[in-house]
Amino acid sequence: MSFTLAIVGRPNVGKSTLFNRLVGKRLALVDDQPGVTRDLREGAARLGDLRFTVIDTAGLEEATDESLPGRMRKLTERAVDMADICLFLIDARVGVTPADEVLAEILRKRAAHVILGANKAEGNAAEAGVLEAYALGLGEPLRISAEHGEGMPDLYTMLQPLADEFDKRAEADAPETEVDVDDEDPDAPRAITKAKPLQIAVVGRPNAGKSTLINKILGEDRLLTGPEAGITRDAISVQTEWDGTHMRIFDTAGMRKKAKVQEKLEKLSVSDGLRAVKFAEVVVVLLDAAIPFESQDLRIADLAEREGRAVVIAVNKWDTEDDKQDKLKMLKEEFERLLPQLRGAPLVTVSAKTGRGLDRLQAAIVKAHTVWNRRVTTAQLNRWLAVMLEQHPPPAPQGKRIKLRYMTQAKTRPPGFIVMCSHPDKMPESYKRYLVNGLREDFDMPGTPIRLTLRGQG
Ligand code: GDP
Ligand code: GDP
Repeated sequence: MSFTLAIVGRPNVGKSTLFNRLVGKRLALVDDQPGVTRDLREGAARLGDLRFTVIDTAGLEEATDESLPGRMRKLTERAVDMADICLFLIDARVGVTPADEVLAEILRKRAAHVILGANKAEGNAAEAGVLEAYALGLGEPLRISAEHGEGMPDLYTMLQPLADEFDKRAEADAPETEVDVDDEDPDAPRAITKAKPLQIAVVGRPNAGKSTLINKILGEDRLLTGPEAGITRDAISVQTEWDGTHMRIFDTAGMRKKAKVQEKLEKLSVSDGLRAVKFAEVVVVLLDAAIPFESQDLRIADLAEREGRAVVIAVNKWDTEDDKQDKLKMLKEEFERLLPQLRGAPLVTVSAKTGRGLDRLQAAIVKAHTVWNRRVTTAQLNRWLAVMLEQHPPPAPQGKRIKLRYMTQAKTRPPGFIVMCSHPDKMPESYKRYLVNGLREDFDMPGTPIRLTLRGQG
């Protein structure tokens, strides 16, 4: 049995229905031991080729002296602690209720892997509820219908890589540093995983110092080996612990140069850097202090922004600079002028050779990643929107004022917002910029790409 899945959610969202669907006839009601798992049903589940244990927080409706919210909370906590993965169900026809929000909070804090399921999503009656579910901060909701069996292939798609991960973890003695090949798409919906390494790419022109930097991060004497012959070399990565944070560093010229199998390969072209960007959550654009902001650097920084990655600018070879203060001022001005789309992104000076500044680089990466994952509640957003509208009302093309009605954060990584409004096509770019810059300032999201979508209503 590869893992345990807990189905959690408030009463009546369809947990038992889903439980029965996953378990089918194989239901093995376990444990009559009083007190232990009395309220948790457990069964052997099957989905495609996956075999796992599923637990359901049944019995919530039973009357006890304890209040339902209190019981629900306790039971959910227990299920969460027992499970490897939590499937959190809401009733998409009802939408998000306060009880859902209480449980979501528990899951955000306590669960390692959460999949958000919007149940009863058959037909069209559930769309509004699905949209609302984004605001729970648990990633993209999976549309399912436990009763009609819809969405099971999608559930499989979410569970399968996790199952693999658990299997791998179970294999003893995983090497500390491994080079592997990965074609995972970071944009695909997936479970939130705390244990997942932070994925970074170090990109920059040849000779910027990428390999020196990565080897410094890894510890100099750790020799990397290349991918096995025959495996696609599209995305090579190495995992490491950097100042307490588990990171996975993707594909760079430096790594490949050091990779023995790949010795004969020439330095990577820009397109290899571009590929690394696709796999990364945070892109470190490494500049050479002597020749910063070359067109190649600008191109890749811009691409990282357009791809929606968090960006950290690192200026390398800082040990060779004499007049550091003047130089830094100049760099910051150039950065603002040449990469306005990355406004507020951190700029860190480092020396890959001596290791100076690497602690600040690490901190900047972790912070950028946090910001990239930032979730603002719908309530906060709408309070904020009201103030923004009052300070600077939207324009009135042809005498008709554009009305902004409602705002919600539809996604993270990077943060994406939806504003419901009248005449979205008439909204000038300048007003969108006003909102985006305001979001950046007021919700502390410097340097991360922010997506704002206007959606018409009625
Ligand atoms: P639980 O309390 O969370 O275990 O919820 P149940 O599984 O008992 O389901 C509550 C009610 O929702 C039942 O009447 C189910 O038939 C119904 N239900 C469950 N799944 C679906 C679904 O996908 N679509 C619809 N329309 N109803 C569902
Ligand atoms: P890559 O092509 O980006 O992987 O660059 P390398 O890591 O191969 O470095 C290119 C050259 O710059 C090498 O001669 C390094 O020794 C040198 N270099 C890298 N980092 C630093 C640094 O922080 N300071 C100085 N002075 N030289 C560096």
